[in-house]
Amino acid sequence: MQESKKLNQDKEKKHFSLTSLIFLSLIAGALTGIVFHYLVPAGYVRDTLFIDGIFYVLGQGFLRLMQMLVVPLVFSSLICGSAAVGDTATLGKIGLKTMVFYLATTALAITMAIVVGGVINPGTGLDTAHIKAEDISVSETVSIQETILNVIPKNPIASLADGDMLPIIIFAIFIGIILAKLGSNAGTVIDFFKQFNDIMMEMTDIVMKAAPVGVFCLIARTFAGIGFNAFFPLLKYMFAVLLALGIHCFIIYMILFKGFTSLSPVKFIRKFIPVMGFAFTTATSNATIPLSIETLERDMGISRKISSFTVPLGATINMDGTAIMQGVAVIFAAQAYGITLGLEQYLTVIATATLASIGTAGVPGVGLITLSMVFNSVGLPVEAIALIMGIDRIIDMTRTAVNITGDAVCTAIIAHQNGSLDRETFNEIKGE
Ligand code: ASP
Repeated sequence: MQESKKLNQDKEKKHFSLTSLIFLSLIAGALTGIVFHYLVPAGYVRDTLFIDGIFYVLGQGFLRLMQMLVVPLVFSSLICGSAAVGDTATLGKIGLKTMVFYLATTALAITMAIVVGGVINPGTGLDTAHIKAEDISVSETVSIQETILNVIPKNPIASLADGDMLPIIIFAIFIGIILAKLGSNAGTVIDFFKQFNDIMMEMTDIVMKAAPVGVFCLIARTFAGIGFNAFFPLLKYMFAVLLALGIHCFIIYMILFKGFTSLSPVKFIRKFIPVMGFAFTTATSNATIPLSIETLERDMGISRKISSFTVPLGATINMDGTAIMQGVAVIFAAQAYGITLGLEQYLTVIATATLASIGTAGVPGVGLITLSMVFNSVGLPVEAIALIMGIDRIIDMTRTAVNITGDAVCTAIIAHQNGSLDRETFNEIKGE
């Protein structure tokens, strides 16, 4: 008894030192990147050996390991989760609440972003001569009808192979519901997925051990490549986006969290910050899914029954951070090109950006592509996107952290209402 307690304490200690390590490597990596950019002379050692050699291989290697987990983990834990919930009525209720929360917070996010943009005026007095406009290629957008239809997988194996999250979610829930109905008649299959899910959780733990090195290399390479001089003419735009992201993440989400769960928002942030750091580093919501599900379960006592559904769904359709960037970008472009927008156009922007958020995949940079859809809806020149493209990486990183925080807040609220949040685990403060 005593021994197992000690073992658990050791495990916790190890886990928490890993959490702190990830955070430290994030800061150390960013500083290293800046030093490489400004102080180390260009040449073989800096560029070939470090930036495109060691940093690239170790960073991408780690990212790939995380991406490797996503589809099998989501698939197996969603099957187990929906089998555990069992009845379709409860699943439907959870699904509906999640969708309402996701859409409502996105609409709120973009409205607030438009207000912040209106106050800061990011596009007035712009010194376009010093902005390095990038080439933009606007890919074709898929119609709403097709987007809805694409949720149903024609070939589930192909969806799994392509990592198409929405069809995977539908197929896995289907299997889970049927397994719950068949009960012991499908005992072997239920056991198989449970055990497979355990294997994937164990794999996540193992892969995370490489996180400090992976995060360091990813962030060092990113910062080594960012030219900070490009930020100056766009400081007002950056400030407006970051301010709106901060308000949404630390004020609006936390009010909702506290209001619905009466749990401590400070504890939530403290426990969730490594996941935010990971999303920031990688700028991909998708790759963050396994870490988010694991952290919500282990540190906050949130059952996978809920998170296995809400987290991947959120990573695919709930992009409040992206919507915020798009709201500020609309104001920026309108001011930069001297176009006046009326109330009707703002409402169109809110509606289109909310829909665009559903269509934005959780991978780096897609928010800028769907931004063209938002600009087109109110006749803003798509060329304006070129102006902000050069500095988008850092904003992409920050908005991804906000995107996945929104999914986690929704997950906590739904889990709390469903009786699937263990308050004791949530309130537990583990030593660093
Ligand atoms: N990188 C974002 C995400 O993965 C999407 C975007 O806004 O480009 O959540």
